Amino acid sequence: MISGPSGAGKGTVIALVKGKVDGVVTSVSATTRAPRPGEADGREYHFLTREAFDEAVAAGEFLEWVGYSSDLYGTLRAEVDGQLARGEDVILEIELVGARAVRKVLPGAVAVFIAPPSLAELAQRLRGRGTETDEAIARRLSIATTEVAAAGEFDHVVVNDDAERAATEVAAIIEDRRKGS
Ligand code: 5GP
Repeated sequence: MISGPSGAGKGTVIALVKGKVDGVVTSVSATTRAPRPGEADGREYHFLTREAFDEAVAAGEFLEWVGYSSDLYGTLRAEVDGQLARGEDVILEIELVGARAVRKVLPGAVAVFIAPPSLAELAQRLRGRGTETDEAIARRLSIATTEVAAAGEFDHVVVNDDAERAATEVAAIIEDRRKGS
């Protein structure tokens, strides 16, 4: 699984990793947040209403789920089980609390933290992205401070100073894991 603060570039790095290693898939999570421009239901996320999300929680459909900022996010068991059954390596893009939960239920999972070069750079990237309100950015930066402080819990920390370089590092982690090292 790949964790790291919002704006650290997890999505960009993961997309590049998929181009470098065969047999790697990403699990599409569910969320109650509104789609950003360009995001499609079932591709970036399964966009659910709060009611539908609550029902999925009650039905035990999530491997883990969390409240993050003012929304809910969760990993769907059905997605991950199907991918693992097909022998694929599944990347979960997940925030800190969910990553800790996954470690408990899937102790074999490799935990990679994508770190921004600095919190100042992170703030700049989030503002530059222009997809969140000032208030949402402030919330994400506050969560980021906690997340960066927990980086030491992860098996690997990859600094995303350059997405291509960071992706090469993550690809090597996956290849090493497949070799059993
Ligand atoms: P965003 O709104 O920027 O897409 O995602 C906000 C945060 O939620 C990011 O740190 C992202 O990695 C995390 N996230 C996305 N899907 C899941 C999920 O299924 N479970 C958990 N715990 N976090 C998720």
